[in-house]
Amino acid sequence: STPLIEVQNLRTAFAFGSRTVPALHDVSFEASPGRVLGIVGESGSGKSLTARAIMRMLPENASVEAGEARFDGRNLLELDENAMRAIRGAEIAMVFQDPQTALNPVKTVGWQIEEALIVHGAAKAGARSRAIELLSMVGIPEPERRIDEFPHQFSGGMRQRVVIAIAIANSARLIIADEPTTALDVTIQAQVLRLLVDLKQRLGIAVILITHDMGVVAEICDDIVVMYAGRVVERGTVEAVFADPQHPYTRDLLHSMPRIDSERRAELPTIPGATPDLSRLPPGCPFHPRCSLAEDVCRTSVPPLAALPGRPGRLTACHVAQRLGALPPRTAAIEA
Ligand code: SF4
Ligand code: MG
Repeated sequence: STPLIEVQNLRTAFAFGSRTVPALHDVSFEASPGRVLGIVGESGSGKSLTARAIMRMLPENASVEAGEARFDGRNLLELDENAMRAIRGAEIAMVFQDPQTALNPVKTVGWQIEEALIVHGAAKAGARSRAIELLSMVGIPEPERRIDEFPHQFSGGMRQRVVIAIAIANSARLIIADEPTTALDVTIQAQVLRLLVDLKQRLGIAVILITHDMGVVAEICDDIVVMYAGRVVERGTVEAVFADPQHPYTRDLLHSMPRIDSERRAELPTIPGATPDLSRLPPGCPFHPRCSLAEDVCRTSVPPLAALPGRPGRLTACHVAQRLGALPPRTAAIEA
């Protein structure tokens, strides 16, 4: 289907006094209605920064240097603040790790949902019953009673559902969820993620899910963007990327996923080498200090994100994959 949002060559930088440090480098991806896009990477890879840039919610000392974010044809990065405010929370909803920040602590949950409905043109008369419907739709038990409660009377998982109910009340077409379940226990986490899947199916909402958890991506995402050091290093469908990763970093991430059948579950292997500091990136491919396939060219030239012939829809930013047409198989020595 036609993408709802297309991000093209997004670049941002941080200002530290008179010094400018690039943060995102030519980040490009798209998200489509009825699909969940997972943006995955370690902390500091630029996932949240990407979401904040699109939503025009960058920290004071960060700025967009180049690129566009076309949402339904409009470039969000060029809209004036009024136009942006109308889109934020309405057409595009953000779900953060801490739902508390999105809710008004002194208003009942029902008031907040009804308010959203009324602002978007619903009649006051039907708003309460529609709000009850929405609470039930996001899986809140006894919605007739709970509608009159305050956010603090809800558990973390239930608050996250309320935030999502408000997004639907606002007729959001895109939900950007930034680690929405990290603070929740595993069972609740799974339920909230199921809810997002349910909404993309029932309402055709596009979802961008930011996570560091490949297990979550496997579970609920259709498409994946892998980020490393402020760059997109691989893109494709989840099915194709998981079956046949074409960037060494993606391959390492998948290899480090805990497996049910593995005795090593308790001691989750991590990828050797430190997460790069954005202000001190190595020249060439930012992954080269940690890459077992690194060659001379990798230490001097940044690999562009490019299509891989023979793999439709797949992009990878790797010199070796591009030169050979695919990554060489993982060797036994690397496996061990
Ligand atoms: Fe490794 Fe070179 Fe590919 Fe970077 S470009 S991921 S260093 S092989
Ligand atoms: Mg983050």
